[in-house]
Amino acid sequence: MTQKWDIIIVGGGLAGYVAANYLMKTNMSILLLEKGNNVGGRARTNKVGQQYFNLGPHALYKKGKAKSILEELGINLRGKSPKLGGILVDNNTEYAAPLSPLALFTTRLLNATERIEWIAILIKILRIDSEKLAEQTFQQWVRQVARSTIVESLLYVLGRLSTYCHAPEKMSAKVILSSIKNAMGGVLYLDGGWQSMIDQLHNKAILSGVHVQPHTFVKQIEPTQQNLFKLVLSDSEELLGKYVICTTGAHELNAMLSEKIVFSLRNFLTQITPVRGATLDIALTQLPNKNRPFALGITDPLYYSVHSSYARLSDNPMSAILHVFKYHHPDEHIDGTMIKKELEQFLDKIQPGWQQNVISKRFIPNIIVNQRLPRIGDERKLHSYKTEIPGLYIAGDWASPDYILADGAISSGKQAAEDIILNEKRNNDANHEGRLPVI
Ligand SMILES: Cc1cc2nc3c(=O)[nH]c(=O)nc-3n(C[C@H](O)[C@H](O)[C@H](O)COP(=O)(O)OP(=O)(O)OC[C@H]3O[C@@H](n4cnc5c(N)ncnc54)[C@H](O)[C@@H]3O)c2cc1C
Repeated sequence: MTQKWDIIIVGGGLAGYVAANYLMKTNMSILLLEKGNNVGGRARTNKVGQQYFNLGPHALYKKGKAKSILEELGINLRGKSPKLGGILVDNNTEYAAPLSPLALFTTRLLNATERIEWIAILIKILRIDSEKLAEQTFQQWVRQVARSTIVESLLYVLGRLSTYCHAPEKMSAKVILSSIKNAMGGVLYLDGGWQSMIDQLHNKAILSGVHVQPHTFVKQIEPTQQNLFKLVLSDSEELLGKYVICTTGAHELNAMLSEKIVFSLRNFLTQITPVRGATLDIALTQLPNKNRPFALGITDPLYYSVHSSYARLSDNPMSAILHVFKYHHPDEHIDGTMIKKELEQFLDKIQPGWQQNVISKRFIPNIIVNQRLPRIGDERKLHSYKTEIPGLYIAGDWASPDYILADGAISSGKQAAEDIILNEKRNNDANHEGRLPVI
């Protein structure tokens, strides 16, 4: 017999679990389906020996939507904030990064005029109303405000660091600047990695009766004549749901939606480009140089950070867990061998001798960081979708009109849950109004 559920959530990442955690307070039956063997999506952490490896560098924005929503759900976010600062590398020269109050005034990277210009721009960003930048690309905005080449480069560095996006000529200034503003509020590296959030969300969901089914691939979603959705699984099993929340990527959603579903955003879904990068995740017995926890490339889109300097990421407190990362441009050809070499050479400059201390390392040449590179006009299209297919909700880091990364995933998960709760309330109210009053 075909199983019937009130709510079926497709995807066991942050968006899916946050939606489940809001909905579990209703008395509707909830099934969460995840194609992987393990839940967590891109927020999962792998334990390799004694070390906890996030899928690349993961930092939670302290002023971001994700943190406040997770706290609202009672999720304990244990970890520490990295200190501002570190170094910037250009070719073979290193400079103090003008991101901490001290380095702002002392770095050799900037002359007196550039220093004043940079400080003024940082203040401007803190005060900016990003809503007014909806029609501009980030590059257009940067060229409008920066007078010197170095300040222009620094703005691109800050943009990459805050959003993982490396295509200033394509990205919406509004989303990038609101993310930079957010990032300027600091970040948290989490003890035990991001899996700690997933585990808590999962346990709360299970204890409240949410049914979680990993290793289940949803092949197709199609409407039925009873105003339900039929989900066809890869083993041809079928499930029925009154509401469906889909948290997969945009292209996966498009492939899943039956052709019977008329959907004006199909074209938009096919045009979405993900934000990608390459990550080299490394555990060392010890750092050759303990005073170098953070570095970024100025011209080269490279990142390095020792997350274990702040968060507990190993059962052995002596070892160091670090991430070296390359931000990919969407039009770039990806040559894994070359990129690995590039990341290792970057690490050679910052931590010469690291190769002798390796416990384990993992290289992923081309990973999706965010499912959508935020472009001008995306918000309008995403807002307009809302009521197009009654009962089908989208969530995930690409689906939020206003936020990206975990902030986008988590806020859209919460939004989908709230929309369902509201819809149920409206239906119940309408049913009650239709009844004769009891005298
Ligand atoms: C290298 C890297 C670094 C990052 N750093 C940061 C950071 O510093 N700060 C930040 O805020 N964010 C960061 N992120 C982004 C953050 O991890 C993601 O935005 C967030 O985890 C996305 O959650 P989600 O639920 O939207 O998607 P996902 O985690 O991708 O979850 C979707 C789930 O759906 C499942 N699925 C897909 N198709 C199907 C199907 N047909 N049937 C069943 N299941 C399906 C997938 O297996 C997956 O588990 C980073 C990501 C990466 C990769």
